[in-house]
Amino acid sequence: MSTKKLNGTVIVTYRCNARCTMCNRYKAPSKPEEEISVETLKKLPRMYFTNITGGEPFIREDLKDIVRELYRHSDRIVISTNGFFTDRIIDLCKEFPQVGIRISIEGLEQTNNEIRGLQDGFNRGYTTLCKLVEMGMKDVGFGMTVQDRNAADLVPLYLISNRLGMEFATASLHNSFYFVESKNIIRDRAMVAANFEALINELLKSNSPKKWFRAYFNHGLINYIYGQKRLLPCDMSFDTFFIDPYGDVMPCNGTREKQVMGNLNTQSWDELWQSDDAEKVRAKVRCCDRQCWMIGSVSPAMHKYIWVPLWWVFRHKFLRFFRKKKYSMYELKVVRDYRDGKVTKAQLDALSTCEL
Ligand code: SF4
Repeated sequence: MSTKKLNGTVIVTYRCNARCTMCNRYKAPSKPEEEISVETLKKLPRMYFTNITGGEPFIREDLKDIVRELYRHSDRIVISTNGFFTDRIIDLCKEFPQVGIRISIEGLEQTNNEIRGLQDGFNRGYTTLCKLVEMGMKDVGFGMTVQDRNAADLVPLYLISNRLGMEFATASLHNSFYFVESKNIIRDRAMVAANFEALINELLKSNSPKKWFRAYFNHGLINYIYGQKRLLPCDMSFDTFFIDPYGDVMPCNGTREKQVMGNLNTQSWDELWQSDDAEKVRAKVRCCDRQCWMIGSVSPAMHKYIWVPLWWVFRHKFLRFFRKKKYSMYELKVVRDYRDGKVTKAQLDALSTCEL
């Protein structure tokens, strides 16, 4: 088996108790009896990072067994959740205090509950976060999918997370087989970008190098919502993989149709990772034009091509040390062109993955 550690995402279930407006996965859930087993997870390779996601992972009652097994393979684990099942989350964290927890909160109370379709979802998620902090959990944070409806809450939510000493992860709307959605689109790009710009300036003001790199990630999100080429190459399926509840190993969750490199229920890891099917998927990734900008594919690229974000951080944090506003969204040519009427909304819409 290869000794190179990989970055993996394990989708433990497609069942979900939320009804998010930007994700239809709850309409196509997996059946409990077909979901990936701990036995199959034993075949996974060594990983330096593993994200456990869903659906809603805490729906699985054997999640503790899954985490226990994954710690045999992985240096670090982060679980993405909607935070609804407070007792289950706390119980798991008691056994694994080193695990990371990211709770999706899509805005302040009313906006969150409307977007996620979870009654009392904000209070449940927020209460869970506060309890985890009280327990002394170190790696806890918010995750927010920024869109027209919640962009105005971006900085207020960041400030809350900051006050609580939590991580603050962002994403924007994507379309793919994983979300069972092809009609997500940002309608007022300039307004959403202006909110990202404000967040980027907040992040650059901080003394935390991690936040400066997050500022770069958010700069990439503005670039993404304007339909531009990714700021960094995408190397998914080379040293990064996703595995779904059916045991299918895939390059990522951003493709239009599911791309399968092999199946871990029926194959060994080495067999599937070195298979012809895996090579075919890698060839497709090399010419993929979806230009996603999700943390799962960007974080490995930021580590691999570190000099690109490093130079960006150096320019914005240090060369503009005395400037109050260190970053402007108009640094991106497409944002200037749209402001100046050189590019139309219809042209930008056509660059997105939305199939309206
Ligand atoms: S750009 Fe990368 S992450 Fe996005 S769909 Fe293509 S291969 Fe997947």
